[in-house]
Amino acid sequence: MTTAAPGDTLKPVDAHLADVLGVVSPLSPLDLTLPDAHGCVLAEQVVSTFPLPPFDNSAMDGYAVRAGDIATAGESTPVMLPVVGDIAAGSTGAYNVQPGLCVRIMTGAPMPAGADAVVPVEWTDGGIAQVRITRPAEPGAHVRRAGEELATGSMVLEPGAHLGATQIGLLAAVGRERVQARPRPRVVVLSTGSELVDPGTTLSTGQIPDSNSTLLTAAAREAGAIAFRVGIVPDDPRVLLDTLEDQLIRADLVLTSGGVSVGAYDVVKEAIGRLGEVRFDRVAMQPGMPQGFGVIGPDNTPFFGLPGNPVSAYVSFEVFVRPAIRRMLGVEPINRPTVRARLSAPLGSPPGKRTYARARMTVEGGTYVVTPVGGSGSHLIASLAQANAFAVVPEHVTSLDEGDIVTTMLLERRQT
Ligand code: AMP
Ligand code: MG
Repeated sequence: MTTAAPGDTLKPVDAHLADVLGVVSPLSPLDLTLPDAHGCVLAEQVVSTFPLPPFDNSAMDGYAVRAGDIATAGESTPVMLPVVGDIAAGSTGAYNVQPGLCVRIMTGAPMPAGADAVVPVEWTDGGIAQVRITRPAEPGAHVRRAGEELATGSMVLEPGAHLGATQIGLLAAVGRERVQARPRPRVVVLSTGSELVDPGTTLSTGQIPDSNSTLLTAAAREAGAIAFRVGIVPDDPRVLLDTLEDQLIRADLVLTSGGVSVGAYDVVKEAIGRLGEVRFDRVAMQPGMPQGFGVIGPDNTPFFGLPGNPVSAYVSFEVFVRPAIRRMLGVEPINRPTVRARLSAPLGSPPGKRTYARARMTVEGGTYVVTPVGGSGSHLIASLAQANAFAVVPEHVTSLDEGDIVTTMLLERRQT
């Protein structure tokens, strides 16, 4: 490992992230339908308003009996009972099982009065008019009692609960159709650059497909946002400002890419100040040094002006935007998980900058191993697509050797 003294002219990554997180806060809860609440964070205490199960019901397909009537049942001493009715799931009829009789009953059907046990069909001959029972059943056998899981007034879910599939399933089971939850942030994504055309367009000289808006929209969705890909804006301040003014109405967060460095026609840097307070910083990271961040529009909507190179834009998204989206959702943790991994190849890093190197993480013999992929150019999107991790080289380190341990940020759950 080689180290160098820290540079002092650039803004530290952590300071920039702290500035971002100082501006964004969890969105106010809304009354959401269950599908809309899926993936969100609950913002109320949910208490059951009826017992679960709501009524005594059968846990098996079989026969509802009085346990005392079949106490002597056995293989060689079967008990024969007349079957006086049939209760299906959903049945609303009121049955009463008199001594010496039984009714056929299906799983989930309400227990009839008088009966105190269910004999599974497997312990019988399955008779319709009369049934032959060859095993006894304890009182209460195969009966699900009303309220045995949740009594009326029990806590179902606490505020702050993450509403995954099983949690919204539970909300449905306790009869909720809507809940108070923090909504997904709405993220508007646009690309700046007069060289950009929509994917699928035949390219003229000097043109390239706009990949950033597709990439960032997908990344925002993966982070939990509702993302709108607005698409391409040319390097024309008037068009940029008009487009943003139109889009602000549906945005909790605005993301642009391109036009934030020091070139001529760097349209975001040039024009965005007219819509709000946006700072342009040189952040001590590689890639992703130029960063615009602030608030725009009448509602002080958070705004990120990300650099245009696709790798820079994506690294900036992972380091600054994803945590902001997670904070707005109200979920924890806001950061990607990191592990300490063994480098399988040397890795260089400019002095004074934190490098996020595209890498592939594998687990070999119980150890995390990380292999850099692609070169250091921030335009290399093909290697970005191979990466499932970033190897993070600290600011003061300029080179790491094969075998060195490096902090590695995991971009997906899959680790091989
Ligand atoms: P800029 O930050 O606008 O100077 O752009 C830096 C580099 O990234 C240039 O090579 C741009 O052509 C490229 N670039 C900018 N925006 C996009 C985009 N949306 N998709 C693909 N490449 C882009
Ligand atoms: Mg540009």
